[in-house]
Amino acid sequence: MGSIGSNLQEVRVRLARACTAAGRGAHIFTRVPEEVAQADAVARGVTLLAVSKTFGADAVREAHAAGARAFGENYVQEALAKIEALADLRAELQWHLIGPLQSNKTRPVAESFDWVHTVDRLKIAERLAAQRPATLPPLCVCLQVNVSGEASKSGVAPAELPALARAVAALAPERLRLRGLMSIPEPTDDAAAQQRQHRALRELFEALRAEGLALDTLSMGMSADLEAAVAEGATIVRVGSAIFGARTYARE
Ligand SMILES: *Cc1c(COP(=O)(O)O)cnc(C)c1O
Repeated sequence: MGSIGSNLQEVRVRLARACTAAGRGAHIFTRVPEEVAQADAVARGVTLLAVSKTFGADAVREAHAAGARAFGENYVQEALAKIEALADLRAELQWHLIGPLQSNKTRPVAESFDWVHTVDRLKIAERLAAQRPATLPPLCVCLQVNVSGEASKSGVAPAELPALARAVAALAPERLRLRGLMSIPEPTDDAAAQQRQHRALRELFEALRAEGLALDTLSMGMSADLEAAVAEGATIVRVGSAIFGARTYARE
């Protein structure tokens, strides 16, 4: 592996190639655009989310110096410490929670993050909306969908998604905004299997949009499968090890 800066540059090149191959132009965003009104531009482009879990604030600072602005974290306590250590950069950074969220940890998340990708129950969304400070812009959220059907995975079952999406979209829009869907596919080296899982999420996304929900975000694709995800319409790819290197521990 090279330095964080050179790794980032390599991932950007991979992403640009994947966008071009998918006929999407090459709009690579460093932060997810905030305007849903730009839905078409958002849908054509892809945001590179740098997944910094298990790496320290110094690594995030190095990625920031190389141009990264959106960071994904899995563990609430670890993330809060990093957000605080990087308070001087707060206005430039977009912090995304991409790990599981228990209801007893929603308050600090509502107060400190910009995005949560892993909402899979109405209760969590209600707490986040109630606890989002009125002084901040709305918290952007994705619903996590269990596309592979693995019993061990979190995420709402596809059959229960439409009802959950309608209920979350109806919560106070000045506090919480439903932007789209997220999935963590079953790991596989089989490109066709990767693509099937990504396509399943995109079809669920399109069905919700056809119902009139104003969604613009498909969070799917990681270091190993970002090309397959971009080919199926990903608007956020979550890339950790290809930027920061191998993780030496997986859990806090
Ligand atoms: C860790 C993690 C990633 C990044 O995975 P890499 O394979 O290191 O790119 C992406 N999404 C989620 C939900 C993760 O937990």
